[in-house]
Amino acid sequence: MEVSFGKEVQLLRLAQGQEFHGEGILAITKGLLQSGVSYVGGYQGAPVSHLLDVMVQAEPYMRELGVHVQACANEASAAAMLGASIHYPVRGAVTWKSIVGTNVAADALSNLASPGVVGGTLIVVGEDYGEGASVIQERTHAFALKSSMLMLDPRPELGNMVRMVEAGFELSEACNMPAVMELRIRACHVRGSFICKDNVAPAISTLNPLQEPAVFDYGRLAHPPATFLQEKLKVQQRIPAARRYIAAHGLNELFEGDLNEVGVIVQGGLHNVLVRSLQQLGLADSFGVAQVPLLVLNVTFPLVPEQIAAFCAGKSAVLVVEEGQPNFIEMDVLSALRSQDLQTRVHGKDLVPLTGEVTVEALTAGLVNFVEGNLPDHPLEAARDWLSATTRRRAAVARELAESGGPPLPARPPTFCIGCPERPVFSALKLAQQQVGPVHVAADIGCHAFATFEPFSSGHSILGYGMSLASSAGIAPLMRRRVLAIMGDGGFWHNGLLTGVQSALFNRDDVVLLIMKNGYTSATGTQDIISTPDEATKAREPDKQQSLVDRNTTIESTLTGLGVQWMRTVHTYRVDQMRRTMEEAFSTAFSGLKVIIAEGECQLERQRRIKPWIASLMKRGARLVTVKYGVDEDVCNGDHACIRLSGCPTLTLKDNPDPLKLDPVATVIQGCVGCGLCGENAHAATLCPSFYRAEVVTNPTLWERLLETVRAPARRFLLLA
Ligand code: SF4
Ligand code: SF4
Repeated sequence: MEVSFGKEVQLLRLAQGQEFHGEGILAITKGLLQSGVSYVGGYQGAPVSHLLDVMVQAEPYMRELGVHVQACANEASAAAMLGASIHYPVRGAVTWKSIVGTNVAADALSNLASPGVVGGTLIVVGEDYGEGASVIQERTHAFALKSSMLMLDPRPELGNMVRMVEAGFELSEACNMPAVMELRIRACHVRGSFICKDNVAPAISTLNPLQEPAVFDYGRLAHPPATFLQEKLKVQQRIPAARRYIAAHGLNELFEGDLNEVGVIVQGGLHNVLVRSLQQLGLADSFGVAQVPLLVLNVTFPLVPEQIAAFCAGKSAVLVVEEGQPNFIEMDVLSALRSQDLQTRVHGKDLVPLTGEVTVEALTAGLVNFVEGNLPDHPLEAARDWLSATTRRRAAVARELAESGGPPLPARPPTFCIGCPERPVFSALKLAQQQVGPVHVAADIGCHAFATFEPFSSGHSILGYGMSLASSAGIAPLMRRRVLAIMGDGGFWHNGLLTGVQSALFNRDDVVLLIMKNGYTSATGTQDIISTPDEATKAREPDKQQSLVDRNTTIESTLTGLGVQWMRTVHTYRVDQMRRTMEEAFSTAFSGLKVIIAEGECQLERQRRIKPWIASLMKRGARLVTVKYGVDEDVCNGDHACIRLSGCPTLTLKDNPDPLKLDPVATVIQGCVGCGLCGENAHAATLCPSFYRAEVVTNPTLWERLLETVRAPARRFLLLA
């Protein structure tokens, strides 16, 4: 990985009394070190990738502390790491993106939660829920409930987040339950400060290892008959112990307010949204001090029924602010009140959106209804004005667009980076399907999933990371044409090798697998994998592109070792060759698994590597050649086939300079990285000959300058002629 976290690593070293200033996720990372964590692992994914990325780059400092850091193969292997804390008093933390990562880790989590832990364990999950999410809309809370794990949801303020990391370990040890801490994208990126403590070198560490393994204890295996007792322990001892600890140590926060007849119970992570909404109603000031009493649940499972009852006692109504569905917290609150025979009215999903993100606007609308029914004397004009002004503003923008005479603004789906090596593969797939006919495409998680959007619209299903080949097993035998499964090298190592390749070989599936070998888990931030080009090669040959990923043949040798008999490796930019290879795979008489390895280094990583190299050439005054592509507007016939075949954002449209033609012409704008796809597509699809390739020479040689003195007047003459 070439992104440098040098500054962040320095922040991890801050000592007692020094002020940390930065992002939430880095504060959490610092909190882990202040808690004396012995081992850290995880699998990258937004919005928590930063935690592991920084830890991996802080490796020399981790060695000083004796903390072990493991970049895990997937979330299941990260969860399984926590097995260290079942027997030994060692604290461990792992991280991944949820809900998908928690799904992958589920087996290990169940088997961890059943025997329980003696060393505190913290699972930091990026709760990718809401309108900005990139995964399925489900809540991690459900996992905590079913496996009896603690669920922490810290109020997004750095001091509180760090306090909850430290308390999370202590709580986990007090009740022997693993703890899950959910962090939404806004909590990960919220900025703030807190006063640090010294980092704690763990007592058991890589510097001070355990001398002997634990004595055998059948009761610590997640295995019948031990599991029958473990189930009893969960409900009879661990959850009650957790409740006692939560109440005794004030993990949930009570913010008093003057308007005691009502109250709001809020998930910690939604506190900032709540305060902003209360401001719209004139019920909170700019510093977040609310007039309505608030019970902020930094721990959302288990709830403490006595605490809920004490908060609600004497109030006519409370509002439970909880995101998504099912409304677990609201149901818990209702049950707590009913069991205490309290008649406080409970509002929740009748006023807060049942699905989707709880935004300030949505919550303000709910609060207006709550206040209207329960604080009838409180003025609501300002909030209503704000809500209707927002609605009016939206309507006005829509009207303006409609009345502007032009077409409505086009949707802007996410797409591949400019120059992405995966884009040409889908150009080739379009062309191959012209020949063989449409094929069923089992898609996957990764940058290649951008091909599900225009102009490729390719992919019939996505069943999980590295699951495309496995997801083709049911449909492939039922299809007249062969099915194509696509996965990235990240997905291949995460899951695809075992669930897909091994199964396809064993069952002799007649299917085509295309593996994007770009060298990194690009979609999660270009983290390294086992088939990443090594650092020495990158440093030695900064200007090379495809050859760097060519060098590492771990995927090829693994597939050969497993017994794959039909395998082709093609550079992604050889569009015509890729098209022919696909056609062969779809039509060959060979029955069995056919693998195409599409080789081409992630352009984002390549640019990160070559930019400093280019800057150094410029600084030295050395000759530098960069390639640009362009469209001759006089030749372009305006059918835009090139755009439909490419989807590159820098290949776009402009007004036709010919006053007699209405259709806009294609044009290449600034930003083209000269990847060559335009030329390849023009050749492979025999498009109109309007594309040209230009070489821009910086710091030309003396001979080139002399040549230019002759060429320039000749060009001017030809242009005038
Ligand atoms: S990150 Fe890399 S692989 Fe992903 S879209 Fe960008 S260039 Fe392509
Ligand atoms: S050559 Fe074409 S596809 Fe490649 S970056 Fe330039 S405009 Fe985009």
